[in-house]
Formats: sequence, C-alpha cells, structure tokens
Amino acid sequence: MPLKRLYVPERLAAGAELHLAEEAARYLGRVLRLRVGDTVNVFNGDDGEWSATISRFGKDRVSLAVHEIVANVIEPRLKIHLVQGISRGERMDFVVQKATELGVVRITPVLTDHGVVKLDDKRAGKRRLHWQRVAESACEQSGRVNPPQVDAPLPLNDWLGAARGNDSTNLILVPGAGRPLSAVEAPAAGLCLLIGPEGGFSEAERSRLHAMPQTHPVSLGPRILRADTATVAALTLWQSALGDWA
Ligand code: SAH
Repeated sequence: MPLKRLYVPERLAAGAELHLAEEAARYLGRVLRLRVGDTVNVFNGDDGEWSATISRFGKDRVSLAVHEIVANVIEPRLKIHLVQGISRGERMDFVVQKATELGVVRITPVLTDHGVVKLDDKRAGKRRLHWQRVAESACEQSGRVNPPQVDAPLPLNDWLGAARGNDSTNLILVPGAGRPLSAVEAPAAGLCLLIGPEGGFSEAERSRLHAMPQTHPVSLGPRILRADTATVAALTLWQSALGDWA
C-alpha cells in the first residue's frame, strides 16, 4: 500500500498529540479510508517527516499520536523562485502543482499588463490560500517535506520594487530571446524564473525587468509555448541540467 502523507500546520515532535479539524478528518477518513490505529506520515515544512497513528476519529475531528522522525528535510541546494503571470483558473492550479513537484521553493503570482485575470484584495487573499493548498497537496503526493511558499498575488511592478537588491539570478522567459535557457550557468545564490501570462509580458514590463541587476532574457526554443507548458519545460530543463536531477 503506498505511504499516506499529510501536511499539518502544527509543530511536530516525538509524543506530540495532534487534533485536526474537518478538512484533515475528511481527507484521512473519506479519501484515504483510514481508521483508528492506522499509520500516516505527517510533515509541516520545518520539522521533517514523522510517523503517526490515528488515535481518535470523530465526524469532523481527528487526533493523531506522533511517534518518530522518518525523514529529515531534503530540499534542493539551489533555491528556485517562480514569478508567474497569473493565468486563468485551472491553468494556474496546474502551474502551482507542477512547480511544487519540480522542486520550486517559492511561487509569486503576479498581475501583469496583458494578464486576463483581475483580482481585488479579498479575492487575491482567497486565491493565495487556494494555491497554497494546491501546493500542500502536491507535496503530500510527491514526497516533498517543505511546501513552497505561495505569496499573495501582486502587481509585477510592486514585485519589482520589493525584489530590488535580492542576490538571485533572474531569468525572464521571452520567446525569441537570443540565449537558450540551457546555456545558462548555475548561479551561486538563488534562481528566479519569470514567466509571462497567456498574453506575454508587455514591452514596458520587459524593459523594467531587463533593468534589474543580474537579469537575462532566455528562450525555450523556436515555438511559442503556452504559459503552463513553459513553466513545466523550464523547470524540467533546469532540474535535469543543473538542478537536483543532474
Ligand atoms: N504572445 C506571447 C506568448 C506568451 S506565452 C508573447 O509573444 O510573449 C506565455 C509565456 O510563456 C511567455 O511570456 C514566456 O514567459 C513563456 N514562453 C512561451 N514560449 C516561450 C519560448 N519559446 N521561449 C521562452 N519563453 C516562452
């Protein structure tokens, strides 16, 4: 039987008792069909992965007894930060899920000139929570211990202001750029990948992005890829050439 894994926000330590509410109870009971006494691994992104058994099941509550650590946090040496123009509904969920499987440590969804999705503050907060949950589920399924941090969506300009002074290498994916992504050397500090929405980055956005230090436009071949394809292709290429598949 495949190992069952659950993300929990609580601190984890030997002997800890976890009391989880509705969503976890439903997931363990109805989706995974576990019963009292069954084992599940729990992880929270900070304390490693722990074995636990279900000690009590209620309709909308479940208690777990935490036993011992089974895996320490193993995360890629090079931190990849994905800054992604927000695509429509399910495509953005796909991007968050695949980026998590492919080892990204941080996802910043950005609103851009050509983006079709508009979000006010309330909807932006809800979307962030939704994407964070998508990332946590992708971690449960993929064996990762640390869910990536999903930031609240913000305008690309605001992100640019806040990102000034970071020491990462920034790669902007631009169709037709002179340099292929595969020709980039591994940076010493982090890597930030910037991918446009369905409509691409506008001229103005491109020139503001290019003005950032340590920033290079790179291409993914001669065909225009959909934004979600570009994300998967770029991360796959990176992990296989320079990242933790190498
Ligand atoms: N008409 C838009 C296409 C957008 S595709 C344009 O010409 O820019 C969505 C995003 O995917 C792009 O902004 C870019 O970041 C990425 N992308 C798609 N195909 C690419 C390619 N061949 N090389 C580099 N980036 C690509």
